[in-house]
Amino acid sequence: MNNRFHALDAVLHRQKVDFKTLDGRVSEIFGCNVFGEKAMEEYLAPKLHKKMQSVIHNGATLKIDLAEHIAEAMRKWALNKGVTHYAHWFQPLTGRTAEKHDSFFTLDQDGKAIEEFGGGTLVQQEPDGSSFPGGGLRSTFEARGYTAWDPTSPAFILDVDNQKTLCIPTIFVTYGGQSLDYKLPLLKSQKFLEKAAIDVCQLFDQQVKKVHVTLGWEQEYFLLDDALYNARPDLVMTGRTLLGRFAPKGQQLDDHYFGSIPERVYAYMCDLEQECYKLGIPVRTRHNEVAPSQYELAPIYEEVNVAVDHNQLLMDIMERVALRHKLRVLFHEKPYAGVNGSGKHNNWSVATDTGKNLLSPGKNPGKNLQFLTFFVNTIQAVYKYADVLRASVTSASNDHRLGANEAPPAIISVFIGEALTKVLNEIEKGTDDMDSGVKKVLNLLSEIPSLQQDNTDRNRTSPFAFTGNKFEIRMAGSTINCAAPMTIMNMIVGKQLKEFYQDIQILMANDMSQDKAILTVLKRYIHESKSIRFEGDGYSQEWQDEAQRRGLSNFPDTPAALGAYKEKKARDLFVESGVLSEEELEAHYEVQLEAYSMKLEIESRTQAEMCMNQVLPVALTYQNLLLDNVLALKELELNESLYSAQLDLIKEIGGYINTIKTTAYQMGEVREKANELESLKAARMYCDVVKPLMSQLREAADSLEPLIEDSQWPLVKYYELLFRR
Ligand code: ADP
Ligand code: MG
Repeated sequence: MNNRFHALDAVLHRQKVDFKTLDGRVSEIFGCNVFGEKAMEEYLAPKLHKKMQSVIHNGATLKIDLAEHIAEAMRKWALNKGVTHYAHWFQPLTGRTAEKHDSFFTLDQDGKAIEEFGGGTLVQQEPDGSSFPGGGLRSTFEARGYTAWDPTSPAFILDVDNQKTLCIPTIFVTYGGQSLDYKLPLLKSQKFLEKAAIDVCQLFDQQVKKVHVTLGWEQEYFLLDDALYNARPDLVMTGRTLLGRFAPKGQQLDDHYFGSIPERVYAYMCDLEQECYKLGIPVRTRHNEVAPSQYELAPIYEEVNVAVDHNQLLMDIMERVALRHKLRVLFHEKPYAGVNGSGKHNNWSVATDTGKNLLSPGKNPGKNLQFLTFFVNTIQAVYKYADVLRASVTSASNDHRLGANEAPPAIISVFIGEALTKVLNEIEKGTDDMDSGVKKVLNLLSEIPSLQQDNTDRNRTSPFAFTGNKFEIRMAGSTINCAAPMTIMNMIVGKQLKEFYQDIQILMANDMSQDKAILTVLKRYIHESKSIRFEGDGYSQEWQDEAQRRGLSNFPDTPAALGAYKEKKARDLFVESGVLSEEELEAHYEVQLEAYSMKLEIESRTQAEMCMNQVLPVALTYQNLLLDNVLALKELELNESLYSAQLDLIKEIGGYINTIKTTAYQMGEVREKANELESLKAARMYCDVVKPLMSQLREAADSLEPLIEDSQWPLVKYYELLFRR
């Protein structure tokens, strides 16, 4: 029996996994494994608790003596919860999380066993940096990397089969302090935006002392049985299928099999939700029926840094919980050809410490000029930096979505809905009499709240959409670290708000009233950024042509999209905002390029091996069977017409065998050449030469699938991957 049938057999004999029912209420367990408000109140003296709050919420500097107290409180709290180890938890540029575990246990001077955890250990650690991508930064410095505590994201307990580890969210930098992760740039971008936004907010409301960015992500994913997953080398090695004919009825078959799906998946989801609640991740689960075996999870939005950490943590927890249920999660943007891929929408907004969402039109017309300011500035920022935003969501895996006839197109455009389009058009048209102009605009704006529900969120083809009270970045792929697009959003909108503030100051210095100055500047921005706004069908060819006429950028693949980081405009942006130095930006660019080539190299090699050592042998065996048959018939001296079908098949199979062999070898030669080249040229070669060869190889292997006797076919078939539970 081949692997495929072993796997199918395992699925057939799966024991039913029991539902884990929650005893008590969600509110009773929510955050119980987090060193948050509640734990701090319990374990810290009130004065220290207050100091810590000020560090978390007001950016006060953290002194080492306070860190000592926090460490002591954390240690006590964690030990009471049965924790044995601690780890600095960080987000290297690989895209997932990393941690290095150390035990609390140590021996004191007298050789007595104790549990120790001091302020120094909490604040800084030195994991071996050499195993994480550094994009050349480390060749000029030491191989060492440092992790440093981020007190604004709460520590938590990771509980894996009762092995409990206290995880401390940290940034990850080189010996010289250069960024090697996603968190540090995000934190810096947040500061930059917040500073710019406060100045603008105070034009409208002197009460506002602080603003913060909010993020609500939506995580899409596929599930499949563990045995099926393990029987496919491509899934194990690359997270997606590299071979396989699509199921004859792809997405429509979903209904048919739906009855048998929910139970196992629900049991998984319930279990997962509970783990999330304990970690303070405020999820609400829902099905997604777009593709078979595809689901979605979305939380209540949170402050951006915590929301990013929660998404990274969630992905980790999802995989761990899945294993308990003998399931596997596929986060890849396109695990299966021919069915919908997965994204991770990032809902972005800015809120004030007075409780106002700055992207909510609100009911008070007088306040709406504030909404309009943030709204128009965001559009203007995206207009100016569309290419940088595009670069932030690019990857080998997301290339299967953006611009590949799927999900949003690679061209960045902004969708705002009919009502707001009308408002912006009115302002753009304007009148000479600015006083009545202001009045008119405010009146128009006051009518928006009742319209917003109907008029936004309709256009699913838009990569960047205003959805009532937030902007939704839909280009982000399901594997992405949300920090990547969030950092860019904060940075570009921060820069834009700074510019806006200066622009109106100039007008006001010439005795123009504030409202008039604001409207005058916004009017100019609306006009300038008009070409980025698009309300139509983003998938159509007409839009491709139209976008080109408008001069919008359109980068169809990662090596091209990453080019945005090489532009002076991007460098200036990163440097001015303090998010990355030129050297760091260069390193981040290199890491992305190298990751691209590396991913394609692994895919190409995995695919070639599967073709050579799984597909080719069964093709030959079947061809031999046919040959024997023909020879036997020939021996009987029968008319050739009686075995002409067999002869045809022998030839057809021979053709595919030939293509597989020559393509696989050719691909190997190209890879060897590519690996000799510098990073951009290598990435281009993988994109332009290796990828088409992979398609060619796949086509040949997939053509054999329906020809060869089913019981001999070695790979779990598409309909089995997608529908077997
Ligand atoms: P849907 O109809 O798509 O479910 P929702 O409004 O419920 O739309 O929100 C979808 C996502 O947007 C959720 O993750 C939610 O947390 C997030 N979200 C809602 N409001 C905001 C906001 N002000 N800032 C950031 N994210 C938000
Ligand atoms: Mg959405």
